[in-house]
Amino acid sequence: MFVFNEKYVSKKEGYYYSCPWIEHGLVFFEYKLAMCCNSGHENGGNTIVRNNYTGQRINWERIFKVKDTYRKFHKKGKINVNCINCPYLTEEKWEGEKYINNLYISHWTQCNSKCIYCYSAQNPNEFISDKTYNVFNTIREMYEKNILRPGGLISFGGGEPTLLNEFEDLINYFLDNYFWGIRVHTSGIKYSPALARAINEIRGYVVVSVDSGSRETFKKIKQVDAYDKVRDTIRKYALQTNYLGRFLISAKFIIIPGINDTIEEIENWMKANYDAGLYTTVIDIEENWYLKNRGNVPPHIFKLIEYARKRSKQLHTNFELYERVQNLINDKVAEKKNKLLK
Ligand code: SF4
Ligand code: SF4
Repeated sequence: MFVFNEKYVSKKEGYYYSCPWIEHGLVFFEYKLAMCCNSGHENGGNTIVRNNYTGQRINWERIFKVKDTYRKFHKKGKINVNCINCPYLTEEKWEGEKYINNLYISHWTQCNSKCIYCYSAQNPNEFISDKTYNVFNTIREMYEKNILRPGGLISFGGGEPTLLNEFEDLINYFLDNYFWGIRVHTSGIKYSPALARAINEIRGYVVVSVDSGSRETFKKIKQVDAYDKVRDTIRKYALQTNYLGRFLISAKFIIIPGINDTIEEIENWMKANYDAGLYTTVIDIEENWYLKNRGNVPPHIFKLIEYARKRSKQLHTNFELYERVQNLINDKVAEKKNKLLK
């Protein structure tokens, strides 16, 4: 549904509001094809381009017609309601060509971990299915027809990507055909030679959420006893790459208040990353807790983030905060400013 919104009327000749996903994006979900996977803003994203999709041949003319309809409405300031307030919606001189270069592959839910914060844990009955469809032939067809082009983002959702029977073939196919910007979140329980290649060729970015500095905490969060295995996988990826590649592997820490929110846990996690040869430190916060507590965050959470920042500086690692944590910090800064102004 499209609604007129004054704020999205462009005054510049040839410009309109759109995003890299409307223009050139496609998402493979379990039962549908979507325009994007962004649902972090009010109204939600997840705009469907085809329902009941389970691997059938895609009618590309139809997909590009949907994208053209978006462009047509957006040029008049009539915006898809799911896109309103999305941070990716920007005013630019979009060239409007018909091709895909942003792919999000997320059509399965099987995993070898059982993270307590996983969306599948919130709704286990919906995510017990081990059914999935294949995407390799579709992707090859897209590339051969020049529908899929390098230059955007290739990312995986899921489920655990390394469990997909096509995973190694997909990553190798992208690498063989000169794609870059391949981003994979993995549990780290299974080692992937193709991912090691992607890191080593500086074309893949791998994120493993370890979320703990000890076997016990790991088990509490992941509900599987695989801390040593995950640490081994990370070490292996780091050992097989060069200086630059080591920036492309992150052992992320999602702060889960009440479970891993201690200095000791953060310190042990950072030490283990450093010993493994990683050069990137990434902090996030558990989504459900964040949504409930955003306006009322206890001071020790900020102290933990600050501690990680200081240690990262001492260890000379690249320090990254995921969007939720950055929002908490921005809220705090805004609150302080407001107090000073009063
Ligand atoms: S504007 Fe945002 S919600 Fe809309 S398609 Fe783009 S990324 Fe998705
Ligand atoms: S590794 Fe990812 S998909 Fe698997 S249980 Fe954890 S959050 Fe869910």
